[in-house]
Amino acid sequence: MQVFLEFLHQKVPAAGRVMPAYYRRALVASESILACYFLMSFFLFPLMSGHWEWVPALMCLVTVALVIRINKLNIIQNFLLFTAAVVIWCGWGIHHFGWSYGLQHFLVVLLLFLFFNVCIPPKMKILMCLAVLAYRMGLFSYAGSRTPVYSLDHTTGIIFQTANSTGFFLLVAVACILFSSSLQDTERKLRLDNETLNKEAGTDPLTGLPNRREMISIIENYQKSFPETPFSIAIADIDFFKKINDTYGHSCGDKTLVSLTSLFESESQGRYRACRWGGEEFCFFLPEKNIDEAGVIMNDLNFAVEQMPLEFDGVPFSITITIGVEETDFKSTLEELLKSADHKLYIGKNSGRNRVII
Ligand code: GH3
Ligand code: MG
Ligand code: MG
Repeated sequence: MQVFLEFLHQKVPAAGRVMPAYYRRALVASESILACYFLMSFFLFPLMSGHWEWVPALMCLVTVALVIRINKLNIIQNFLLFTAAVVIWCGWGIHHFGWSYGLQHFLVVLLLFLFFNVCIPPKMKILMCLAVLAYRMGLFSYAGSRTPVYSLDHTTGIIFQTANSTGFFLLVAVACILFSSSLQDTERKLRLDNETLNKEAGTDPLTGLPNRREMISIIENYQKSFPETPFSIAIADIDFFKKINDTYGHSCGDKTLVSLTSLFESESQGRYRACRWGGEEFCFFLPEKNIDEAGVIMNDLNFAVEQMPLEFDGVPFSITITIGVEETDFKSTLEELLKSADHKLYIGKNSGRNRVII
């Protein structure tokens, strides 16, 4: 009782009661199916009972009105009105025809709309579910305690049973399709957004290369997957890059970093992964390469950089890089390997630059 009172008096912000599109679609579809079903029942009535009965026609009008007014009401009001229509129909139908024509199955549809309603708190859902169960049991004992108003002959009984079963199955199928496809769409969208975010988080925006964080994760994953396979790493730093910035401007420096990236990629031929380590430093990961093989590859790259034609405002210039290479010894941590490569780079800088130290 306390929960129900809290539910009725809860202050849900207006935005919280806005009906999700999938819920609205499922309600419109279900109420439209119900409207058709009520209309059909209205025309079946003279066949079943020998005279016209106005309740199905009224129910048809009510459900059509619910569809038309759906945007004027919030999600809870829409759900409660839909529930009222189904509950009244089941009670009225079982009172007139008894238990054996499957009218009670329509109550199951309510459970679908109840549990997919994002604005109803979990405790309230359980209470409402129990209320539906109690109502169903009540109808069962009511139907067993008296004879129905109409007793149908065999043929009309089959027609009525078929109409009810078809209506119930259609309602369940449509609700399930709409609810599940919405969940799948949301999941697919989340996965895509996640992938994009992850990619962006691991990518350097200027060069499009993996950043330091991504490179560390690439190497660590490799170490985990192939713990006994050798690999080398190399750290490269542009020589006198400050001069490029000072002479030609920062945007020329940026363009140079991008050109260098293109060269790294075209020279790679799948032998290494390059990343922007930071500033004008790059890191290379050379899987399955020992230090001698890595040294040869880096020497070729060093030469290619030196030969790379660059120009600014028609003035040609070139750059050189210094590289320190290190191979895994299967004992040192990645941090230690990087430190050692960095130390070799430092030695290269101090011994004249534009060289590879292995
Ligand atoms: P060294 O040969 O000793 O490495 O000399 P250097 O001038 O390259 O070294 P230093 O560390 O003194 O300068 C690096 C410069 O790289 C300083 C900084 O302005 C520049 N730099 C770092 N990141 C960027 C960038 O994204 N774009 C541009 N244009 N310049 C950058
Ligand atoms: Mg530097
Ligand atoms: Mg430098």
